[in-house]
Parts: sequence; C-alpha cells; structure tokens
Amino acid sequence: MEDPQLIEAFVRSTRACFLEFKHAVAVSAPQFGIPHRMFSLKDRRDRITWIINPEILEVSRVIVADFEGCLSIPEYEGLVPRPYSVLAQFEDLSGKRRTERLRGLSARSFLHEFDHLEGILYLDRLTSLEFFMHTDEADKIRNSKKSFREFAGRVVAQAEIRGYQSVLPKMSTPKISSSLVDKVASRF
Ligand SMILES: [Zn+2]
Repeated sequence: MEDPQLIEAFVRSTRACFLEFKHAVAVSAPQFGIPHRMFSLKDRRDRITWIINPEILEVSRVIVADFEGCLSIPEYEGLVPRPYSVLAQFEDLSGKRRTERLRGLSARSFLHEFDHLEGILYLDRLTSLEFFMHTDEADKIRNSKKSFREFAGRVVAQAEIRGYQSVLPKMSTPKISSSLVDKVASRF
C-alpha cells in the first residue's frame, strides 16, 4: 500500500473507532497495524486533532496521576503518573508544522499516544501493579474523592518519571516525509 493510503486508512479507522468507542479520546496508527508516527486526539466537542511526526520539546517537572484506559487493553485501567504539561511539535493533516503546549488531559493523551509510537504501553509507566485494575474498581476509587486523592498521591510520590527525551529517541516507526503530508493534505 502507498503511504498516502496509509494516512487515509488511519483517518478512516480513527473516525470509525471514535464512533464505536464513545469513551475513546485518542488512538494511534500502530494500534490499527499502521506503522507510522501519527495519532489523533479528540476533544470534548468531538473535534479531532491529527498529529503527524510528533516531537516532544519539553515536559513539565510537575507530575500528576490519573486513570488511563487503552483500546489495546479493554476493561482495565491504570493510575499513571505523567508530566502535567508538554510542549510538542507536530504536523497536522494540512502539512503545517505546529508547536503547541498541551496541559492536563490533553497532555496525558498526547504522551500516552506518543508512547504507542515507541511501543510503550501505560503499563510500563505504572509505579506498581497495585495501580492496574478492572474498570469497576477504578470507578469505585474515582467516585470517592478522598480515596482518589490518596491513591494519586501515592502514585506521584513513587513516580520516577524518566526524561521523555532521553528515553525515547529510538524511532521505532518511520517518519512521514513532509512532501507526502502535503500530497495527502489536498485530499482533506
Ligand atoms: Zn493506548
């Protein structure tokens, strides 16, 4: 298959995926068996940001913990420590290189999906398997503010966040050339 077709396949698969899994907020190309460095983030208004050839320029020192699920690990969730914000650079579907600072849930989703491009799952980021649980159990903790604070506090205290830049320079999937992105951009 030609590369532009891979990007189109990714766009189609992503749209279908978001329709089927209403709770999904992000998904990466490798999850559809497409070995390219791209993923998408969906915001609360169902707008999709397409992220191609992303790079992480900087992450905050502030670490926060929150629950994450993954379409590749159904019915389970993990309480995962992540930097609160990330300064990221990427191309969108129009081929434009953008630099954006993402915070909170957007930063978490970005870093989760970036990890997929490196073959890393959120399981690898857990400080302990104690924080990997069935969604029912996660719901119980989520619904009790005190209990959530207690769990999240312990995760952050245990977190030894490895520097994203130093851990992740190994590009496991090929970059998409800018000219290719331009070529595809005209179709959307
Ligand atoms: Zn995932």
